[in-house]
Amino acid sequence: MIYIIPIPKGYAAGTLLGDKESPFEKALTPVQCLHYCLTRPAVASVMVGVSNIDQIFAATAYVTASHKEKDYSEILANAPKSSFRGHCMYCGHCAPCSQQIDIASVNKYLDLALIQEDVPETLKNHYELLEHHAGKCIGCGSCLKNCPFGVDVIHKMEQAVQLFGN
Ligand code: SF4
Ligand code: SF4
Repeated sequence: MIYIIPIPKGYAAGTLLGDKESPFEKALTPVQCLHYCLTRPAVASVMVGVSNIDQIFAATAYVTASHKEKDYSEILANAPKSSFRGHCMYCGHCAPCSQQIDIASVNKYLDLALIQEDVPETLKNHYELLEHHAGKCIGCGSCLKNCPFGVDVIHKMEQAVQLFGN
């Protein structure tokens, strides 16, 4: 079974929006916070608390924001005492893969599968719908150079093949 999760506290009660309060020691914008939440596995929506109309506009700006404006990876990758190293953040910076694998999506489905005893059929179906599967990875390593989080993508592709079969 796959759960579709709505995320509360997408701004961590506002702490992520200030340089001083943020655990990353650098403020994220509302758009970056929302994008981080919405790129987690199985997350379908984010609920935000607002106290004025400007804050509503700041959140709804997500709809028209550019990829650059949504990108949170630099702040997370440079966070002090970062615990993100080696963990895929599904940011997509590793693209393009020489074999056109959507690495972020493969990693997302893999991480979802790894936390379950049996891989649910719905998750297998989502993986099958990918145009290029992890089995196409030739280990060229070009993605490794681009990943700000030091993810061992080649190993991830191997794990995905083991779990999903292709
Ligand atoms: S492998 Fe690295 S660059 Fe690619 S999506 Fe994951 S964290 Fe981002
Ligand atoms: S190592 Fe594999 S996943 Fe990474 S770019 Fe090369 S073929 Fe794509």
